[in-house]
Amino acid sequence: MKPVPLDFTFAAFDLFCQRIRHMPVFSVAGFLARAAPPPTPFVILRLDVDYREAHAVSLARIADRYNVQGTFYFRRREQGFDWQAIRAVADLGHEVGYHFETLDRARGDVVRARELFLKDLEAFRRAGFPARTVAAHGAPPTAPTYHGNLDLLRDAPGLLDKAGLLGETTLSIDFTNVAYLSDATWRWRRYDHYQPGQPGRPTTLRAILAELTRRDAGLYITFHPHQWFPHPAQALFFRARNRIARQLVRRATG
Ligand SMILES: [Zn+2]
Repeated sequence: MKPVPLDFTFAAFDLFCQRIRHMPVFSVAGFLARAAPPPTPFVILRLDVDYREAHAVSLARIADRYNVQGTFYFRRREQGFDWQAIRAVADLGHEVGYHFETLDRARGDVVRARELFLKDLEAFRRAGFPARTVAAHGAPPTAPTYHGNLDLLRDAPGLLDKAGLLGETTLSIDFTNVAYLSDATWRWRRYDHYQPGQPGRPTTLRAILAELTRRDAGLYITFHPHQWFPHPAQALFFRARNRIARQLVRRATG
């Protein structure tokens, strides 16, 4: 067997897409729209575009080469949404959704956060994207009144309906028979029965590739495209830089 390319390179993502090309792969909306969970094996493919939107477009193109489609969630940056990147990803047949952080932006003001949320979804739809699902962005809270952006929907279950949404990426998924895997902060983690805030077990891309061959694999996999690079040297550099920055923060905050 050929060696697995270095993790967090486009080559590694390419290999991952090759391996799932003959499996049922669902976008988040595609999965939620089903009346019942699909038979195993299957993959739910999600990508949270925190920044470096161009990398998301590259991964979207790689996936498309293998006829693999997933859901890409885009943030509203200070300068607004990156419509060009969103359009490029949607044109390849991927689902595009809204990666929201309105409680962070409103510094915990729930009423304001709700307004921003609905306004952003309206902007999405005005731009021609249906936005059927949303994903909460994970970041430290900007006020002590809430734990994370997901609180917005957790505390107001009617908001999903009101916003015309099929669901949220973790709130609306039944994880009983779905294992959750995420590459957040450049470290693969596996969660047997995912719950926000719960610590996962460390794993590797190699282990995930092996698991894909199992008949009973029901895997929900989240990538962060800004962590994936064309060249191995870049992947190594940015990963190391992130690790050092995290250590410094940990040391500074004790
Ligand atoms: Zn995020």
